[in-house]
Amino acid sequence: VPELPEVENVVRGLAGPLGGRTVVRARLTSRDLYRSGSLPLSRLAGSKITSVERLGKAILLRTPPPDPVLAVHLGMTGNLLLEEGGGKPVRYKHKHAVIEFDDSRRLVYVDSRRFGFFWIGPGGGDLGDKLNIGPDPFQLGAAELRRRLERRTAPVKSLLLNQRLVSGLGNIYADEILFHAGVHPLTPGNAAAGSAGRLLRQARAVLRRAITQGGTTIRDYRKADGSMGGFQRRLAVYGRAGQPCVDCGRPVRRIVVGSRGTHFCPRCQKTG
Ligand SMILES: [Zn+2]
Repeated sequence: VPELPEVENVVRGLAGPLGGRTVVRARLTSRDLYRSGSLPLSRLAGSKITSVERLGKAILLRTPPPDPVLAVHLGMTGNLLLEEGGGKPVRYKHKHAVIEFDDSRRLVYVDSRRFGFFWIGPGGGDLGDKLNIGPDPFQLGAAELRRRLERRTAPVKSLLLNQRLVSGLGNIYADEILFHAGVHPLTPGNAAAGSAGRLLRQARAVLRRAITQGGTTIRDYRKADGSMGGFQRRLAVYGRAGQPCVDCGRPVRRIVVGSRGTHFCPRCQKTG
C-alpha cells in the first residue's frame, strides 16, 4: 500500500520526464475510478505539465491555470508507470488509464483492486480542502499536531491514519513511527498529545529514511520505472509479529486497532 515515501518516490521519478511535456491524449476506461466532481481525464489533452507534486498520498500533475490539475491516488494496489515511446505498449491485466505525451512517452495507471482515484479539476484554491487531505508530517508543526491530538480520544494509531488530521501515513509507517517514538498504539489521542514533538520528529526521520530507500515494497508497489523499494528490509515492527524487537529482544506483538493489524513492542512502547 503506497504511503508518503512510496508516493514521494513516484513523484520524483515522474517530475523530470514529465515536466514541460504536453499531454497529447488522455483516457480513463474505468469510470468508477473518478472521484465525485471530477472532470473527464480527456480534458488534460493539450495541457502542458508544469510540475509533478505530492499532496499527502496523492500525486498532482499541475498545469498552467486555467487548465485543470490532475490528482491521482494509488489506493491499495495502484501504480503509475512510465513507458518509453516507440516500443509496443506493455500489456497489463489491470490497466485503467493512459496519458500520452508529446515525446511519445506514456503514463499508465495499473490497479488490480481499484481503490485508487482520479480527480481532474481547477488547480486554484486549496486542493487539500477539495480532496480532504490535511498537512503531512513535513508541513505540520509540533504545536499544531499537539492541538489536533488533544481533542481526540481515539487510539493514536487510528488518529495517525486519519488523512485529514495528518496526511501521508498508512498502516506501515504509523506502526514504525509509534515504535521509534516509544508510544503505545492504543494511547488515546489526548494522552499522546504530550508526545507530539517526539512523534513528529520520529515521523520525519522514519519517512526520510524510507524515501531514501525508495519506499517499502511488500507486494504491489513499484517506482515509476517499475523497480522495487528497499525499506521493507529496515522495518522495525511492521510485519514482524513474534520476532525479537530490534531494541530489547522481546517478541513484537500484533493486535488489531480500528480493524487494522498493528505491530508494537510492549516493552519499548509504554509512554504516551
Ligand atoms: Zn522492544
